[in-house]
Amino acid sequence: MNAKAFAPAARYRELVAAITEADRRYYIDDSPTLTDAEYDALRVELNALEANHPELVTPDSPSQRVGASADDRVEPAVKLTEVRHERPMLSLSNAFSPEEVVDFAASAAKGLGGREPELVAELKIDGLAVSLIYERGTLVRAATRGDGTTGEDVTANVRTIRSIPATLTKPVSCEVRGEIYMPKSSFAALNAERAAADLPLYANPRNSAAGSLRQKDAAITAQRNLSFFAYQIFEEPAPTAQSAALRRLQELGLPTEQNARGGLTGVSAASFLTEWVEKRRTLEYETDGAVLKVDSVADQEQLGYIARSPKWAIAYKFPPEQVTTRLLRISVEVGRTGYLTPVAEMEPVLVAGSTVRRATLHNIDEIRRKDVRVGDIVVLQKAGDVIPEVVRGLAERRTSPLPEFTMPTHCPSCNAEVVRDEVRHRCPNRACPAQNFETLRYAVGRGALDLEGVGEKLLAQLVERGVVRRLGDLYRLTAEQLDGLDRMGNLSDGSRREGPNRISNVLGIIEARRNRELWRVLVALGIRHVGETTAKDVAAELQRRVPPTTGAAWGHDVLAALRLMTAEEFTAIPGVGAVVAESIASAFTTGSAGDSLEDLFDAGLIVLPSAATPAASGGPLSGQVVVVTGTLTATGWSRREAQDRIAAAGGTVADAVTAKTTLLVAGEKAGSKRAAAEKLGIRIIDEAGFVALLGG
Ligand code: NAD
Repeated sequence: MNAKAFAPAARYRELVAAITEADRRYYIDDSPTLTDAEYDALRVELNALEANHPELVTPDSPSQRVGASADDRVEPAVKLTEVRHERPMLSLSNAFSPEEVVDFAASAAKGLGGREPELVAELKIDGLAVSLIYERGTLVRAATRGDGTTGEDVTANVRTIRSIPATLTKPVSCEVRGEIYMPKSSFAALNAERAAADLPLYANPRNSAAGSLRQKDAAITAQRNLSFFAYQIFEEPAPTAQSAALRRLQELGLPTEQNARGGLTGVSAASFLTEWVEKRRTLEYETDGAVLKVDSVADQEQLGYIARSPKWAIAYKFPPEQVTTRLLRISVEVGRTGYLTPVAEMEPVLVAGSTVRRATLHNIDEIRRKDVRVGDIVVLQKAGDVIPEVVRGLAERRTSPLPEFTMPTHCPSCNAEVVRDEVRHRCPNRACPAQNFETLRYAVGRGALDLEGVGEKLLAQLVERGVVRRLGDLYRLTAEQLDGLDRMGNLSDGSRREGPNRISNVLGIIEARRNRELWRVLVALGIRHVGETTAKDVAAELQRRVPPTTGAAWGHDVLAALRLMTAEEFTAIPGVGAVVAESIASAFTTGSAGDSLEDLFDAGLIVLPSAATPAASGGPLSGQVVVVTGTLTATGWSRREAQDRIAAAGGTVADAVTAKTTLLVAGEKAGSKRAAAEKLGIRIIDEAGFVALLGG
């Protein structure tokens, strides 16, 4: 703590400024700069300071307001229409330990003249709060919480969320509140896609849900696979208890989180929390805690409110699972588009269920802000339980001074002089081998050409030897070129056991993927901002413009059309914004995308139109929620291929095993998902069973 911190007024101003800035980054930009734990620590300090020095409290203190107002926006990137809430949308007081929850119950009892109230515990879904207005059973308006008094109109966006009914089961007028969230699997897929398109990653499912909802173009929201749980209703006559409100919401056809538990005391609520610390990892959505509410509405009214939150409810925050490990070195990776990313290489450590050795440090500013130095003991956690994140270096545990890390001045791959674009460093050399390798690696990936047999090691050797320079070269590979490469074996090997098998295997996979859907090829071209979703949108439009024919001709016609299309025409495609449109148009006019595609055709690649989307019902897996785990060795299908087949058979694909899963396809080396399915009594089938179910 610095000397300034001891002067309460100065520290107070520092805290207000830091929290206000964090709020803006979190609520308005959907791109927080602090971890939730760091943020919560600032708020705890602020509350303590205000309690000891009430004279310091100003009306603009974060303790007096909810969230952030859209007026705090620095850049009005998405300016949505503002709406005033009829009843304010409040925040909740926080508790960080089960003991504080017991204290909460005790103080509620005190407020009720000594009678301990019954509590309801609901898992706190980490998304963003939304208010839905239904008139005579029809959804007429949806708004975000905003600063609690004024939110943003997101009606069109909310209409694209399938779990929010447009009409209720009864023609009632009411306001419903709940949480819009992004399932973990969609979050992981979205971030993978953003990484591939070289866009900044979302820090957690909450920010990605908020970013996806607050879009001018509802078509983008529609692609993001958001979901919803309701937890509050205002209607006349009002339900008399929170537990009754949850039942009423269900009766009206609104989804509620199924693990809520009623009839609790402070002590049993605390054990509910302990129970869910681990169990929450099995859910398909992120929860950052639980909300404890006094059940009876009469009791709630008696307890009342403080500035920004009700006294009858409290949000308990699960502790983020943090571990410490040593930072061994910081390596610098060169991405597809030339950006240099510093990566922390750590002593392997188990965090939130998996072993972590590497985590991105994003850029030099992040390294400075977190004060991370090679040799440090660092604090590591998983953001949104998915992405490992270095929280900070423990300066206090340094036994000797450690030098600060600096970014290389020259590209680690081609030695070209590095340039700095705002916060990131970039290698400007278009012919940089690392960029070339990354471009090819991306192109053979699951979400693009899906050339499974061409792994990273093989590709590195092929690029290094100059055998593969551009995409088309992959389709020109011969047995001789693979001969003698590491782990490929030799064609001349007398026993011909390993070698020729591996070689013919790789060539076989490439051959089998000579016919590819257009969207896969568009992704493979590595056009900036074009991930799977955009590629599918563009491919669908091209399919409309250029009626599919058989054989190689269609690809050539499509390329001719692509070369003629203007940025304006690309913008007209739903889901394609101006920046993306510009990027695609220039890739085909001034960039090399067209040449790469022609080269692919020369090498014998044939592009196919996408099959029409199969009916969601009526297939052999209709109504089933299916998870695939382990390796599918007999069919050789990648996880993605298996999932495509499930979807084509009318099934719903899920990544995690939950109570909603109805079927687990277990390949070889199925591990924790199999165990989870066994525990939940879910039907498990092997690969042969899966093929049989699909109908052959
Ligand atoms: P809160 O934690 O005070 O809780 C209130 C919110 O919980 C509601 O608005 C609603 O969205 C949600 N919720 C989920 N399930 C619910 C249920 N069953 N019943 C009622 N509400 C439910 O939320 P807040 O005021 O939006 O934010 C405060 C928290 O946000 C902080 O504790 C911190 O974790 C995070 N935050 C982080 C940063 C950062 O920089 N990292 C900045 C601002 C806020």
